[in-house]
Amino acid sequence: MNREQAKARIKQLREIINHHNKQYYVYDDPEISDADYDKLIRELERLEGIYPELITPDSPTQRVGGEPLSAFKQVVHKEQMISLADAFSEGELRDFHRRVTETVGNDVEYVVELKIDGLAISLTYEEGYLTTAATRGDGRVGEDVTQNIRTIRSIPLKLDFPEGQNPHIIEVRGEVYLPKAGFKKLNEEREDMELPPFANPRNAAAGSLRQLDPKVTASRPLSSFIYAIGYSEGIEFKTHFELLNFYKQVGLRVNPHIVLLKNFSDVIDYCMSWREKRDLLPYEIDGMVIKVNSISQQQKLGYTAKSPRWAIAYKFPAEQKSTVIEDIIVRVGRTGVLTPTAVLTPVRIAGSTVSRATLHNEDYIKQKDIRINDVVIVQKAGDIIPEVVEVVKERRTGRERVFKMPQNCPECGSETIRLPGEAGYRCTGVSCPAQIRRSIIHFASRDAMDIRGLGPAVVSLLLDSGLIKDSADIYTLKKQDIIPLERMGEKSAENLINAIEKSKKQPLNKLLFALGIPFIGSKAADILASAFGSIENISKASYDDLIKIPEIGDKMAESVVTFFKQRQTKDLLGRLKDAGVNMKSADVPEGPAPLKNTTFVLTGTLEDYTRQEATKIIESLGGRVTGSVSKKTDYVLAGKEPGSKYDKAIKLGVRIIDEKQFKELITQI
Ligand code: NAD
Repeated sequence: MNREQAKARIKQLREIINHHNKQYYVYDDPEISDADYDKLIRELERLEGIYPELITPDSPTQRVGGEPLSAFKQVVHKEQMISLADAFSEGELRDFHRRVTETVGNDVEYVVELKIDGLAISLTYEEGYLTTAATRGDGRVGEDVTQNIRTIRSIPLKLDFPEGQNPHIIEVRGEVYLPKAGFKKLNEEREDMELPPFANPRNAAAGSLRQLDPKVTASRPLSSFIYAIGYSEGIEFKTHFELLNFYKQVGLRVNPHIVLLKNFSDVIDYCMSWREKRDLLPYEIDGMVIKVNSISQQQKLGYTAKSPRWAIAYKFPAEQKSTVIEDIIVRVGRTGVLTPTAVLTPVRIAGSTVSRATLHNEDYIKQKDIRINDVVIVQKAGDIIPEVVEVVKERRTGRERVFKMPQNCPECGSETIRLPGEAGYRCTGVSCPAQIRRSIIHFASRDAMDIRGLGPAVVSLLLDSGLIKDSADIYTLKKQDIIPLERMGEKSAENLINAIEKSKKQPLNKLLFALGIPFIGSKAADILASAFGSIENISKASYDDLIKIPEIGDKMAESVVTFFKQRQTKDLLGRLKDAGVNMKSADVPEGPAPLKNTTFVLTGTLEDYTRQEATKIIESLGGRVTGSVSKKTDYVLAGKEPGSKYDKAIKLGVRIIDEKQFKELITQI
């Protein structure tokens, strides 16, 4: 590959990886397996290694994670939260050891820890009390999830310091995770509600923690392990192991399988031993983390842009098995999308029996040339949803059948179409029973209108008996209508009516999610609700208004506009409103909003305001404050010693204002 070809491929890889980063970190909804993602990153790293002059600061190899969601308050990390470099083999682990000893000599001890499959968290304790909890975000700025973290029992609200060790401030870092049992239960619940399951425990934990309603987080059995330190005042440690012992003493949860080893062969043996034993743990691990024990040696080794040079993550290989695709079936989702699924001859992989694998869409099947009766390699990595890695073409016998997406909906027989720019086929039937049923189940589900007792079975009963035809009809139900239904008694009918009544008060973001607007998941619904404040405002928003919001992409903006234009939507919303369903945020600003649709980014230190105060002023005038600069940013408000956001604003031509200009702006409007 010559330089020009490499340049083009680098550009393409960055675009693909950025897309997957957004799906993974912002929406907790990855489209590809971690193993496939890691391959893309490795290819990019390799090309950037050959042509280092093509490395740019915004390359995904130089950046951590994803941008924080603006629905949360932002927390600027006092010390950056970075990632870890990866090793995928024993050879790569030995390379790491060689690099370490080249810098600090042969006298090295390592702490070896399990790599917990959750999400990184930063907890700040001031005078012993938990004051702030934040996600990693993009490493510089995370999301403020303090209220949600307070619901996790293994995280102490106060630390018990031993005599003489009393840090004024200590930021501890670790992992929040969902145990295997909790993950399984959550996905079963989602399946019951016909919602797509979380792909892996990490996304499930992230989705559970990044909830606007702490009650939802409290209902998920999240737990924690603490393993690192960020900013601190009034305490120092000589070794990592000493730090971990201190954590145990003060009441933080430290993983019991952490060891201190001197010999690197023992480090490797310990890592390999957990490849087998991981099934026995009550939580998922996706590898091991090896850290240099001595803090002074850590300081000598230092950091790259993205990771410390004194630590490495050994990632377990994905477990693969071969099996046969017995059939390919098609399911119709609530938005009418047809999803093909492979029915497999059951096979045991990574501790569980696998009998289905998602095939995503027609392109995926064509790309991998997957046919019915094919022998295929199926893989489960940290990912819980199994996927087909490849077809074993040498084992084809001639009995294989090419699969075609059905031209008619398997549920209602209406024609199916593939819209331009979309990978999936959709059923065109406006009254497709499968779509209606699923959309009502979705409407009533826990993360939407939360109507307890209105699960899939009851929805089917109500539809079959003609009592309801769509979601708005739920609010016309009377107790006497329900009592005669199968398995319904007086008590359950009364409970259901009460739950329906209660759901009228659900906050705006839940209603928005409940409406099932294509491409608008619960995160996007949160964002729209806080940006617009009412159904009325959202329904009037133009494509341009919507696209200005950093997390709202092209497809989402288009989908929202199309959805609210439809006559059916207007009718449905009218009936929901008449029934008394809440259509506004509790805190819609009543006054004028002169900064409506105006996005600010703050950088540097302001003289007369704290960042929180400046944010409050902007929000009270209807504007928004986000964590990172993009073309969609209207103003960068720069104080003293601005950071990299300032440079980015110059690069993108975003308007930069100082504090004086800001004051003028807010007093003039
Ligand atoms: P990482 O998960 O490879 O490793 C760093 C993280 O490990 C830390 O931030 C921390 O949260 C965690 N960790 C767990 N136990 C730890 C311990 N004992 N000590 C220190 N850290 C510990 O890196 P990342 O930057 O968080 O994520 C990158 C990875 O995420 C990729 O390699 C890929 O597997 C996955 N990913 C997948 C997709 C996708 O589309 N499938 C997209 C983006 C990222």
